Amino acid sequence: MTTDAAPALFACEDIYIRLGGRTILEGISLGVRPGEVLGVVGPNGAGKTTLFEILSGRYTPSQGRVLLGGRDITRLKLFDRARLGLGRTYQSPVVPDALTVREVFQAARQAFSPYLTSFHAEAAAEKVGLHVPMTALAGSLETLNRRKLLLACLLMRRPRVMLLDEPAAGLINAEIDELDGIIRHLAGELNIAIMLVEHRLELLSAIADRCVVLDLGKLIAEGDPLTVFDDPRVRAAYFETEAA
Ligand code: ADP
Ligand code: MG
Repeated sequence: MTTDAAPALFACEDIYIRLGGRTILEGISLGVRPGEVLGVVGPNGAGKTTLFEILSGRYTPSQGRVLLGGRDITRLKLFDRARLGLGRTYQSPVVPDALTVREVFQAARQAFSPYLTSFHAEAAAEKVGLHVPMTALAGSLETLNRRKLLLACLLMRRPRVMLLDEPAAGLINAEIDELDGIIRHLAGELNIAIMLVEHRLELLSAIADRCVVLDLGKLIAEGDPLTVFDDPRVRAAYFETEAA
């Protein structure tokens, strides 16, 4: 567990962005510490993925800063952020269908560093509990194993921060429990700072140390998951979305 006294390793301050003529994010500030799992929760369309696009370097905010280890990285490209230890997964676990698991690992190694070997790939596969033959086609893997493969490719780079966008999407309950265990291991044992997006509030209590809630581009609540669940503004945001 982390304490409130530890400084955030990765943070953003007062982020604004407009897309398609609309303000999508308004004044978002948040941070995550090493070993901490921060849940980023909110109804569909709240702006969670857009925030990750800004944090990972695919979008530039119209205002605000992104900080890694105290350094302003707002203008750094995705690849340079990856080199500094920022890793990201996407909502859809897209893998190169026609490559084998071994070839996916090889491609990930070569893209990042000539010093990574098959040994690193095997160690990363072990850390995420990926137990499939190296000769299996990536396209033949079930959703959970696709997600594990993509996580393992990231882990080989020894990230300090991981942004996971709806990693539980498409999984059944037993698989979500397994995934939660893996994510807790990444935070607890490897001391990675993790931001985890999920739109289902109820899934975060088992895994997040802390949550922030986004609704219509604004941060409406922050705190430990149970307190946040009871917040009337949070309940209203979910109720209105369901009723709409
Ligand atoms: P979430 O991940 O929380 O479901 P998103 O960040 O994907 O939400 O989307 C937030 C809002 O921003 C939605 O209304 C979406 O339609 C809009 N949006 C996202 N990307 C773009 C874009 N490139 N251009 C215009 N609107 C966008
Ligand atoms: Mg999203």
